[in-house]
Amino acid sequence: MSDTPTAQTPQSSIARAKELTAQLRHLQDQVESLDAALVQENVSKLGEQVARITEKLQTALSKVSDAPAPAAPAAAATGAAAPAAAGGAAKGARGKIAAMSAEVVDSNPYSRLMALQRMGIVKDYERIRDKTVAVVGVGGVGSVAAEMLTRCGVGRLLIYDYDKVELANMNRLFFRPEHCGMTKTDAAKKTLQEINPDVEIESYTMNITTLQGFDAFKASLLQPDDPAGAASRVDLVLSCVDNYEARITINQVCLELQQTWMESGVSEDAVAGHIQLLVPGETACFQCVPPLVVASGIDERTLKREGVCAASLPTTMGIVAGMLVQAALKYMLDFGTVSKYLGYNSLKDFFPTMEIKPSAACVNGLCRQRQAEDEARRNSPEALAARAAAAAAAEAAEAAAAAVPLHDENEWGIEVMGDEPSGAPASATSSAPAASAPAAPAPMPALADGIEYGMPVDRGVDAATLAAEGIGAVDESTEDLMAQLAALGGGGK
Ligand SMILES: [Zn+2]
Repeated sequence: MSDTPTAQTPQSSIARAKELTAQLRHLQDQVESLDAALVQENVSKLGEQVARITEKLQTALSKVSDAPAPAAPAAAATGAAAPAAAGGAAKGARGKIAAMSAEVVDSNPYSRLMALQRMGIVKDYERIRDKTVAVVGVGGVGSVAAEMLTRCGVGRLLIYDYDKVELANMNRLFFRPEHCGMTKTDAAKKTLQEINPDVEIESYTMNITTLQGFDAFKASLLQPDDPAGAASRVDLVLSCVDNYEARITINQVCLELQQTWMESGVSEDAVAGHIQLLVPGETACFQCVPPLVVASGIDERTLKREGVCAASLPTTMGIVAGMLVQAALKYMLDFGTVSKYLGYNSLKDFFPTMEIKPSAACVNGLCRQRQAEDEARRNSPEALAARAAAAAAAEAAEAAAAAVPLHDENEWGIEVMGDEPSGAPASATSSAPAASAPAAPAPMPALADGIEYGMPVDRGVDAATLAAEGIGAVDESTEDLMAQLAALGGGGK
C-alpha cells in the first residue's frame, strides 16, 4: 500500500528520454553519412522525424522534472475513476497531436492502438502516420472504411465520390440525416476531421468513370514533384465502388501507376461480400479473370442498374469494410497474412480465401507488360541470390531441427492415427473412381470452395449432362454437318 506505482513515472520517462536521445543521435549520424544527392531527397523527411523526436524528448523531459509534484491524483490511485484533469482538453474537439504516444492515460486517443506494438503484433505502429490511402467511393463500405482508417490515425486520406447523401442511405452506417443533400465527400470530410484532426483529408467530388474523371483521378494520385509523372504518392487504393466501370477505371489507373490496390464488393442480395488484393504484375488484375463473388451468383454489372433496387445491410457492409481495413492495416504495417482474396458468406458464416494468379492471356496489354516486368524482377541476379540464400537458410534450419530427436521416449504410448477408415485401403478409394471418371470438362482456373465467377463463364458441358439430355457423341466433321445443314436449308417448310 505504501509503494504506490507513481514512483515508476520518472524512471520510465528517464529511460524513454535516453532512448529518444539515442534515436536522435542515430538520425544525426545517418544524416551526416548520406551523400549530397540523397540528402536533397531525404532532408525534409528526416527533418520531420527529428522534429517529432525532439518533441517527444521534450515531453519526456518535462515529465521527469514535473514528476514529483502530482500528489493529489496518486491518492486516488485505486484505479477506479481517472482524474478528469489529466488531458486538460476542451470538451468535444481536440487539437492536433504531433506524435503518437503510447502512454496509457484516458486522454490519449492512440494508447489502445500503440498497445499493439507493446504486445508485439505491430513492430512500429506510428508508421501509419506516414501512410496515404485513397478510398474510392464513400458509400456503405467506403465511408465506414474511411472512418476506421481515420480512427486508426492514418496520415492522409483521399476520398472520392460523385454522389449526394440521401435518406435512402440511412440503413447504413456513418452518414446521418442532417447530411442529406450534402455531397458524400463533403459530409465525410467534415465528420472525419472532427473524429481525428491529425488525419489530412483531401476530398474529391468527381465521377472517375468519365474521361475527365479518369485524368483527374490519376492526377490526384501522382507525386506533385515527380518530373516523369508516373510515381504514385499513395500507399494503397481501396476500391469501395458499386459498379463494374468504376472498378475497370481503378484497375487501369493502378496498372499505369504500378499502384497496389484492394477491391471490395457486397452482393446485390446483401448477404455476401469479398475483398481482393491486386498488385500489378504480381497478382491477377481486375481483368485477368472474371470478377469473383461468394456463392450468390451476382452479375457485378447489375449492381447499379436503373430501376433495380439492390438490397443492403449495415451488418454485411460493416463486416466487409472491417475485412478491407484489416487487410489494409496488415499490408501497410507489415503484420499477419494478407489474403489475395477473402470472401464472406453471411448465410453460412463462411470465409473462403484463395490465391489469384495473373493471367498470361489477360485482355489488358498493360497488365501483361507488368507481368513481364515482375517476372524479370523475380529472375534478376539479386532476386535469385536472395532466394537461394533464403532457401539455404531454411534448409539449414530444417536440418538443425531434424538433428534433434523429437521424442526420446514415448512415456504415454501416444501414436499418430491415419485418417483412412480402417476397412478401406487407401489405394482402392483413390484409384477406383479415377478409372471410370468422365472426360474432364474445359479447363478453368480452379476456384476455392464457395467462390464462383461474378459473370457468365462458358464452363463447357459435362458428359453426364449430355447423356441426361439425350445428346450423343457426334462423329461427323464440322464440314459434313455444314453440308447437311445447307441441304436442309434448301427444302423450306
Ligand atoms: Zn490482367
